[in-house]
Amino acid sequence: MKNVPLYLGGEFVQSQTQDWIDVTNPATNEVIARVPCTTDDEMRRAIDHAGEVFKSWKEVPVSERARVMMRYQGLLKEHHDEIAEILSQETGKTFEDAKGDVWRGIEVVEHAANVPSLMMGETVENVAREIDTYSYIQPLGVCAGITPFNFPAMIPLWMFPLAIACGNTFILKPSEQDPLTPMRLAELFEEAGAPKGVLQVVHGGKDQVDVLLTDPAIKAVSFVGSVPVGRYIYETGTRNMKRVQSFAGAKNHMVVLPDADKQQVINALVGASVGAAGQRCMAISVAVFVGEAQDWIPDVKQALADVRPGAWNDKGASYGPVISPQAKARIENLIGQGEAEGATLLLDGRGCTVTDLPDGNWVGPTLFSGVKPDMAIYKEEVFGPVLACMEVDTLGDAIDLVNNSPYGNGTSLFTNSGGAARRYQHEIEVGQVGINIPIPVPLPFFSFTGWKGSFYGDQHAYGKQAVRFYTETKTITARWFSSDASTETNFSIRMR
Ligand code: NAD
Repeated sequence: MKNVPLYLGGEFVQSQTQDWIDVTNPATNEVIARVPCTTDDEMRRAIDHAGEVFKSWKEVPVSERARVMMRYQGLLKEHHDEIAEILSQETGKTFEDAKGDVWRGIEVVEHAANVPSLMMGETVENVAREIDTYSYIQPLGVCAGITPFNFPAMIPLWMFPLAIACGNTFILKPSEQDPLTPMRLAELFEEAGAPKGVLQVVHGGKDQVDVLLTDPAIKAVSFVGSVPVGRYIYETGTRNMKRVQSFAGAKNHMVVLPDADKQQVINALVGASVGAAGQRCMAISVAVFVGEAQDWIPDVKQALADVRPGAWNDKGASYGPVISPQAKARIENLIGQGEAEGATLLLDGRGCTVTDLPDGNWVGPTLFSGVKPDMAIYKEEVFGPVLACMEVDTLGDAIDLVNNSPYGNGTSLFTNSGGAARRYQHEIEVGQVGINIPIPVPLPFFSFTGWKGSFYGDQHAYGKQAVRFYTETKTITARWFSSDASTETNFSIRMR
């Protein structure tokens, strides 16, 4: 049994806690490790040490900080498959999907290696006679990140590489459900030459997160997770005078117009709804068929019926188990509620089994039609391999439906009409829009821009917005006196 260490002050150490949480393999429910609930003393050490190291790390030239990221991305690529295998063990993701999780994180590290140009300020010469103004981008201090179970490589890598490249130190509190992948990321970060203590990793749940949210030494908190926790993090962190970016849950609609390419629609819907067992914040959980496009629902059913979950190394499996027995029970309960509330259950994934893995948290592909906005299956984030189909008459009706959703993470339109696409991308109140792309997660030179109830804060993850989030801008206005400079006193605030 592996006891997951803390990463404190640049050392991987055993926690002194008496309070441990089991980490399980979701395909078998075997306990594969135990993760500690970090003690108050250990939390204090992490925060104090991060504060101390910040004093020297912020003085390290930006090009040297960038080189750490370059070496890190090289090491992550070298260890790509090995990290993906660890990730598969603790999340149940198929190996292909686990590799995608790691890869999308590596892309952010590549972006962080561009930090010198990302941290360039602005300059204007002669804002007044012999006066120049220029701005510098400077690090904030100690930053913290709290991450969810569903992307244990990508989401920690959304946070600490860029924050640290900007000159900050960082305390990561990964999900207690899959901490082994983030620990491997930390080991490789040290191997890449990151000075001891720029990154600290603590473990646990609410108690440990509360320390990060309230300790005055922490300047900024990045969170990704569910809606109730996301709201709590934003409210508590901002009340404690911190910068907070809080990425929360979602309900993502794919709108299908009858002029779309039918086969593309079916392929996109199947992959985007049940891929990763539906445990993606950008999964398509609602398909909105406009007009005659609803005639394609039987074809979607046929395609989904051919999909099956399985073990991480089963090449025929399209997705793995859901994360825990509790998650499975919740999903099955929501399927039951959908049926009870009058939606038509076309495919029922309850009671799913996988040969040789009888104890896994399996849920089969599930499809509803006739779903209405007041049903739980529509209102709740199911976070399972469940697709809810809705039928509307016009594109305008589809836009109204999506805009009435409290969430605004992602959406997608399938069409062959440029006019319809332009209208959709303009009118839709969602932060990430795919046109004939089902899961439009932007690459890291853009930012991950969820809206409405899917995001609390203003500066988003990665890209230029994250650099702003993790830094302060200092604006300098300077005059160097020449020998013939005026000696008059200026009693006005106007610069001359
Ligand atoms: P979660 O909210 O249960 O946990 C997220 C993190 O918060 C974990 O580290 C957990 O330990 C901590 N936590 C849990 N309860 C807490 C509490 N009461 N107080 C303080 N901290 C607490 O989320 P999850 O189940 O791990 O992840 C799935 C959720 O994450 C889904 O809702 C999904 O949509 C969302 N998500 C959103 C995005 C996005 O970018 N918007 C990306 C990925 C996942």
